Amino acid sequence: MRIIIFGPPGAGKGTLSKSLVKEFNIPQISTGDLLRQSIKVLDEIGKEAKPYMDAGQLVPDHLAIKLLKQRLTDSDTKKGFILDGFPRTQKQADELEHITHIDHVLNLKCSKAVIIGRVKNRRICLNCHAIFHLINMPPKQEGICDQCGGQIIQRDDDNPTTIEKRLGNYKEQTETLISYYNKKGILRDIEAEGNIDGIIKVAISILSK
Ligand code: AMP
Repeated sequence: MRIIIFGPPGAGKGTLSKSLVKEFNIPQISTGDLLRQSIKVLDEIGKEAKPYMDAGQLVPDHLAIKLLKQRLTDSDTKKGFILDGFPRTQKQADELEHITHIDHVLNLKCSKAVIIGRVKNRRICLNCHAIFHLINMPPKQEGICDQCGGQIIQRDDDNPTTIEKRLGNYKEQTETLISYYNKKGILRDIEAEGNIDGIIKVAISILSK
């Protein structure tokens, strides 16, 4: 099963993806995580991507496409995968069409007010990319990941100025992809303002039909 999850930053794509990984036993591929990893080890992609990410802009298409293509050569993706954060532009969607076939697109719908509240309190593990929320899903020990003991940080781009820019980018560049996949008949909207367990249930029932 090959799935794309759409939604503005903070809509819950990462958290939903991680549950679907367990449910369907296929990997989550987050180009944001892959980019953060490249930045952490300061490889060529990381060096080129960092200024764009720090500014809340999309990185150039060729970087995101290269990372995705590399990841899709791994054997764990053969049975399927969940794309979280890719494609984000029409160019990326066109490229994806050449690489593989997509079965389902889930579109998480969420208002700006809810997004800002979620992003402000979001924390991630630097090591395993687990996602926490300081109020709704805090780590048991402050600053330490429950799952791997790694360091929990606030993402550099999860600040009020950058989040405004990222929301703007989403509207401008990524929202058009929703109608693109809708026309293909494979897109389903999910109301994503409520409790995450409810959102996961709806997603699993759509994907299991
Ligand atoms: P995310 O973790 O999905 O919120 O992505 C964080 C940041 O990584 C984005 O704001 C972009 O700067 C960059 N990014 C992630 N995926 C892509 C992509 N497919 N195309 C371009 N930029 C991306």
